[in-house]
Amino acid sequence: MAQQPFDAIVIGEGICGLTAANALARAGCRTATLEAQLFGGLVLNVNELDPAPDERAVSGAEFATELMQANAELGVASIQEAASAVHDREGLRVVATASGRYPARHVVVASGARLRKLNVPGENEFEGRGVSSCADCDGPLYQDEEVAVVGGGDSALQEALVLAKYCRKIHLIHRGERFRAQEQFVERVSAHPRISVAWNTTVEAIGGNKTVERVRIRRASAGAEELACAGVFAYVGLAPNSEFLPPAITRDAGGFVITQDTLETAVPGIWAVGAVRSGYSGLLTDAMDEARRAARVIAMQLGRA
Ligand SMILES: Cc1cc2nc3c(=O)[nH]c(=O)nc-3n(C[C@H](O)[C@H](O)[C@H](O)COP(=O)(O)OP(=O)(O)OC[C@H]3O[C@@H](n4cnc5c(N)ncnc54)[C@H](O)[C@@H]3O)c2cc1C
Repeated sequence: MAQQPFDAIVIGEGICGLTAANALARAGCRTATLEAQLFGGLVLNVNELDPAPDERAVSGAEFATELMQANAELGVASIQEAASAVHDREGLRVVATASGRYPARHVVVASGARLRKLNVPGENEFEGRGVSSCADCDGPLYQDEEVAVVGGGDSALQEALVLAKYCRKIHLIHRGERFRAQEQFVERVSAHPRISVAWNTTVEAIGGNKTVERVRIRRASAGAEELACAGVFAYVGLAPNSEFLPPAITRDAGGFVITQDTLETAVPGIWAVGAVRSGYSGLLTDAMDEARRAARVIAMQLGRA
């Protein structure tokens, strides 16, 4: 392992990882970030962050780009590779990828989460032909059409409101009897003339010919029925990107990483912040707070703060 170790490697260039790297670099730590896909994470395609991270009207892509630029100016190394494992070796943490091994004194896991699938017939078949998870990118394709949005949390309501700018009607399908979302979204959705909520209802199948034409839903009270729609957008929760971590890093039943109050995991020197962490609130502002808190403690341990 000839390579000079980094003070810290941050896994994930979502908003949380970029913020952690920024705070570490500002504290004088030699820092690298690793990214499996494109920087920006879950908010990359969100045109209007709400709530916005610092009360500015800004898109996810703009905000992430600003952070990437700031990090580059601070000398953060951005490595475009997926972390496939994290090992302990000779008192250091080593992040492995398909093509390399990167040693570091500390590792910050900010690998976030991905949208869960509905796991119903037709979902994979119609991916990109009516099944989507990006209201901002695909909304304009459904001008004056009817679409279904599935879910009852912040993302489902926020994205239903985005789609309502374009679509004739949104069927918001929720398996529960109340939303688990910020009051402002609940109020706006409830008052919107083109959003109709199907409570206590699940999606059983997605059907169509070349593209989506209908969903089969099941209402708890009335059994199954078909709903005509040209698009299906599902926001039914998140699955953590934590599979590559060693078993010694404890996780909750959903696979989210458990940390102490300090944000350190069960393995000393490995920290977890943001959407990959068990107990994370779901708000970018909180992810950024976590990132800065972890960075502060790491910098202190390295004698930089
Ligand atoms: C549709 C939608 C809209 C939202 N809108 C808002 C909003 O307006 N305001 C708000 O506050 N919150 C919003 N959220 C919530 C917000 O997206 C998350 O809270 C936030 O993205 C968490 O940031 P993160 O950096 O922890 O994780 P992520 O955004 O998930 O970023 C993690 C990054 O790590 C990378 N990665 C994963 N595994 C690896 C690996 N093995 N190696 C290297 N890199 C890896 C991923 O590719 C990704 O880039 C929204 C969420 C959704 C789904």
